[in-house]
Amino acid sequence: MARPEAQKRYRHLVQHCTDHIPENTPVISRFAPSPTGYLHLGHIANACFVWGITRALGGRVILRMEDHDRERCRPEYETAILEDLDWLGLEPDLGTLDTWQKGATIYRQSDCGARYQSALDKLIAQGRAYACDCSRKSLSERLAPGKNDLVYDGHCRERELDFAQPDTSVRFCVTPDAVQFDDLLLGVQVQSPVEQCGDFPLYDRHGNWTYHLAVVIDDLAQGVNLIIRGEDLLDSTGRQEQLAMALGRETRPFIMHHPLIMDAEGRKLSKRDADTGIRELREAGCSPETVLGKAAWACGLLDQEIPLHPGALPELFR
Ligand code: GLU
Ligand code: ZN
Repeated sequence: MARPEAQKRYRHLVQHCTDHIPENTPVISRFAPSPTGYLHLGHIANACFVWGITRALGGRVILRMEDHDRERCRPEYETAILEDLDWLGLEPDLGTLDTWQKGATIYRQSDCGARYQSALDKLIAQGRAYACDCSRKSLSERLAPGKNDLVYDGHCRERELDFAQPDTSVRFCVTPDAVQFDDLLLGVQVQSPVEQCGDFPLYDRHGNWTYHLAVVIDDLAQGVNLIIRGEDLLDSTGRQEQLAMALGRETRPFIMHHPLIMDAEGRKLSKRDADTGIRELREAGCSPETVLGKAAWACGLLDQEIPLHPGALPELFR
């Protein structure tokens, strides 16, 4: 049932975590969708890894709503995500499905502004963050020929702009050193945030906390010691490591980036691919087990497309 070569890698990975995690430390991981749309098979593939590996390790899964981007997130997507997870039988241990209707929770990023603000104040006081009024236009006008427009040039670092000005973002000062980390699946990675992105925003010009700021603070505050996410986020890790260090993190979490499900053209699945939406699959009459099996098969966890019960997920990794 499980793909033999995949299972060998994952069994090794689970053993590695067991051997290296300090005694009496529960494993805590998270499933962290952004309610900017409905869940699709790509999210469920991630959930198979998160629930399967965490449960195989006897750990706990946090459900976190990453709704830091106030323009793109909608409450109806949050409700739909909760419903789909419930339907699939994917029960989180923290941020449980019944807590979300009861008001503010530490697992919903839009409820955590005060926590983000105090972390930001700390970084500003340390001289690790500064205000920036560059627009996209001014950035591209300054761009040296052949330079990557995704790398911020540090223009505002020494300008000491006022944080209270409108249309001002706050950027993190990256350090020139490379970051090295050992990905549980991909092995040792070396990244250079100064070359990949330069000083990146923590708070954007439209008044949103950014993904990097929110995810790093939440992982720290919630004691996450196992991060399981798709390979599309691999490049984020180096810069998030620098930010976590600046915020005083003591122990590095285990981290793994898993393969993504690709569509027929070899592109990452997205919300546009309606045939992979969980709502659509439900309406087409698929059972929860059929949907889980589809996701697990499409990301290489099963050698055939067969129904899969959520309770059987840990077996794929043992
Ligand atoms: N919220 C992110 C996403 O939907 C996941 C964040 C993470 O796992 O670090 O892609
Ligand atoms: Zn600037």
